[in-house]
Amino acid sequence: MEKTVKLAEGIYRIPTVLSYAVNSYALIDDDSKVVLIDAGLKGSTKKLVAALESIGKTPEDVKTILLTHAHSDHMGGVNNFNSKSHSPVCIHIDDEKFAVNGMAPKPQNPLAKVFNLFDRNMEKVAIDSTFKDDEVLNFRDGLSVIHTPGHTPGHASFYDKKTGTLITGDALFNMRDKISFSVRLFCSDFKLSKVSVQRLGDLEVENIGFMHGREILNDAQSLLRTFLKSKL
Ligand SMILES: [Zn+2]
Repeated sequence: MEKTVKLAEGIYRIPTVLSYAVNSYALIDDDSKVVLIDAGLKGSTKKLVAALESIGKTPEDVKTILLTHAHSDHMGGVNNFNSKSHSPVCIHIDDEKFAVNGMAPKPQNPLAKVFNLFDRNMEKVAIDSTFKDDEVLNFRDGLSVIHTPGHTPGHASFYDKKTGTLITGDALFNMRDKISFSVRLFCSDFKLSKVSVQRLGDLEVENIGFMHGREILNDAQSLLRTFLKSKL
C-alpha cells in the first residue's frame, strides 16, 4: 500500500485505514512546514509518521492540525500523534465543544446509537483555535474554509486556491470511485448536509480529495457539478 498519494504540488493524501477507507491530508506550506488535515482514528500515528517520512517530513515539521469535524475517525488520532508533534489543533467554531468534550454531535437517526458506541471511546481534544466559514487561513497563499454543516454542525471543507484542490471532509464520499452524499446514518442533519454541500459546486475545482474514498484528479469540477446538479 502506498504511504501517500500526490494530488497536486505539495498536497498528499495519507491513507490511514486500508488504501482509501479513511484519509488524512498533508499540505506543504511555503515555509516547507506541514499542515495536516485530520489525524484518523486513534492508533493512526504510525501510518501518519511513515507517510510524512515518505515525503521527507517528520511530525515536528507539522505546524498545524486542521480538523474537518469532531468524529473519532478524524480526530481520534490527534492526541497520540501530538505527543510527537505538539501542533496547535484547529476546528470550526461550531464543532469545538464536541472536540473538547470528546463527544460526537448527536446523529439524527436513532439507529446511529451503534455509531455512538464508537464515539464513547472518543478522547477529549484540546483546541487551540477555531475558524469560521469563508475564513482564509494563512497557509499556501490562502487556504479557504468552507463551512459545510449537516454531517456535523461545524463540519468544514477546505479549498486550496493555488492548485484548485478541494478537500471535502465528510461532506461528500467517494467510496468505490462514486461520489455520494455524506452517509445519512452518521449525520447530525442529513438534509442540511445535502443543501450545504451544493456550494462546493461554485468553486473552480481541479482536484478533489475525500476523507473516505480515492481522489479525483484533473477537471474534477465537471464530475462534481454533474453529481450536485443531478441531486437538486
Ligand atoms: Zn464524520
